[in-house]
Amino acid sequence: MGARKKIILLGATGSIGASALRVIERHSDRLELVGVVAKSRLAPLAEIARKFSVRDVGLYEPPAGLDSGVLPAATHFYRGIDGVTDLVSSVPADIVLVASAGTAALRPTLAAIERGHTIALANKEILVLAGRFVTDAARRRGVRLIPVDSEHNAIFQCLDAGARSGLRRLLLTASGGAFRDTPLEALRDVTPDQALDHPNWSMGPKITIDSATMANKGLEVIEARWLFDVNPGQIDVVIHPQSVVHSMVEYVDGSILAQLSPPLMTFAIQHALLHPDRADGVVPTLDFSQMMRLDFFPLEPGRYPCLDLAREALCAGGTAPAIFNAANEVAVEAFLGGRIGFLEIPAIIRKSMDSVTSREPGSLEEVLGVESETRRLATQYFSS
Ligand code: NAD
Ligand code: MG
Repeated sequence: MGARKKIILLGATGSIGASALRVIERHSDRLELVGVVAKSRLAPLAEIARKFSVRDVGLYEPPAGLDSGVLPAATHFYRGIDGVTDLVSSVPADIVLVASAGTAALRPTLAAIERGHTIALANKEILVLAGRFVTDAARRRGVRLIPVDSEHNAIFQCLDAGARSGLRRLLLTASGGAFRDTPLEALRDVTPDQALDHPNWSMGPKITIDSATMANKGLEVIEARWLFDVNPGQIDVVIHPQSVVHSMVEYVDGSILAQLSPPLMTFAIQHALLHPDRADGVVPTLDFSQMMRLDFFPLEPGRYPCLDLAREALCAGGTAPAIFNAANEVAVEAFLGGRIGFLEIPAIIRKSMDSVTSREPGSLEEVLGVESETRRLATQYFSS
């Protein structure tokens, strides 16, 4: 066996982070954790650092006056986005697993690409915000972006089966979220707790709300456009309540390939970290000695306005997806905080897309400017 692959994990304390740690622990003969990063809480990160003997630890938003004394001796501690960027640029690694929520990972990911590290990408927000910049940088440096988001990881696996010229379309599956069967009239009054109760997946709060609104599938349509360089018209969404078929690829001859596994993120994470090798999974896979149903439904028109808005943003191009994403983030936070109702989430996105002008960005700074302008405006809609 060759040398172990060195992994830097951004977002180590989250839901994906926890699954990634299981995979790394299970395959400690092939994988070695060398850096961990979280948002602002040091204690859980210190515990991970101790358990995995990690020497390089960072926080995106260290609280003022933070005492880094809880870290094991001889640990290097990196503060803020500059610090995290420094960590990924200076610590020798093979793969950076980008699993922090939101767009904070953008600069560290670009720095990792510049260093030539393979990127295992769970985070979708940075591709929605700056897909062109991230994919251009990866192409320029010859760096591989391996998708970890389950749908995109499935597509990545299915695309190995045929020549790109034979690709007709990508079929993203969607569980339909917590409210797939809720009468449309009842959606006005649903609570954050109801929205957080996802039928199949256990995930962080933001993405679980995004699943209920299907903004998540909208973000994933945009993510697919950048990862696989296809036209918006080649990306379709189909409802699949069991979340076992993670997505499909249709070729021009009518053959459709799918990737199946239980709805647990360890499968996609392990695939991305070990790629192109395969090894035993951390949990058992599907059991066909038991009866199992796989259902598929077309989308019900009008049920998922956030998905329609995401498509509109993708087709408009330029900074429109960044506006969609920023407005959605602000709206979801307000909904989770009990300040707005569920149906105000698409309303705030709509207003933001109507009032911030989308343009073809000349620089990353311009995209970030549009992002913060959108956040400011979107916040005004419900605080006034
Ligand atoms: P989570 O909320 O459970 O964890 C997020 C991690 O990122 C934590 O380590 C946290 O400290 C850090 N973080 C949170 N907010 C941050 C911020 N503003 N700035 C910097 N760091 C921050 O989230 P998750 O469910 O693990 O999702 C992580 C990423 O993976 C998201 O981009 C999400 O869209 C994507 N993703 C998650 C799943 C899933 O099953 N959970 C599936 C596909 C894609
Ligand atoms: Mg997904």
